[in-house]
Amino acid sequence: MLTISPIPAFSDNYIWHLAQDGEHWVVDPGDAAPVIKALGDAALNGILITHHHLDHTGGIAELVKRYQCPVYGPESVDGVTHPLKDGDQFRLLGAPVRVMAVPGHTLDHLALLMEEPGAEATPHLFCGDTLFAGGCGRLFEGSPAQMYDSLRRLSDLPPETQVYCAHEYTRANLRFAEAAEPGNAVLQNRISQVDNLRAGDQPSLPSTIGEELATNPFLRCHIPAVARRAASHGAADNCDEVEVFATLRKWKDNF
Ligand SMILES: [Zn+2]
Repeated sequence: MLTISPIPAFSDNYIWHLAQDGEHWVVDPGDAAPVIKALGDAALNGILITHHHLDHTGGIAELVKRYQCPVYGPESVDGVTHPLKDGDQFRLLGAPVRVMAVPGHTLDHLALLMEEPGAEATPHLFCGDTLFAGGCGRLFEGSPAQMYDSLRRLSDLPPETQVYCAHEYTRANLRFAEAAEPGNAVLQNRISQVDNLRAGDQPSLPSTIGEELATNPFLRCHIPAVARRAASHGAADNCDEVEVFATLRKWKDNF
């Protein structure tokens, strides 16, 4: 059976650890030490990388030296042995993985969609710093239009898709979401659920695409109430969804 568990790193990163039948992979190891500790006597079979930022890649060299494992990720990242690009497919722990280019946070950003075999399959999405629970990544390299397009691609995934993002930012994101859409009752429920989880020091992740569609303002730029809030923060009346998105992103940067 596949298990996916978070290895906390730095102040708020999660390195996702996939394990099945004694085989171990990690996603975005920004630091090697917590991975080595979590593995104990087990060996690491491989590394997956979503984008080039150091808090996602800083552990690669030490882990490869120790475990001689392959590294799958964008060509731009030092140490990648299996470069990936949009549309690529490969198998991981017996399951097919689909590679999606999701530029915006960085230009090299990839999301990895793992589909477990079997009729009851729930897809697992490793989306790095593109889609967060209740929010999205900052635009360091891409344009608002690129990021919005990337988020739209992720929104089109099945609603039951489990979303494994790389940071525990959910509470702060939901505080912004509440400002962006004060009348959203589903969002209010989510805020209490996440507050309870975090009060017990539990991760707020994974979330699902369905939850994000219902509560994440960056996936709700087409909703009139969200567009009106964007208009009160500088977006033109009746502007397009990209301008609503760009306005929300700028507002959140200073929130
Ligand atoms: Zn990043």
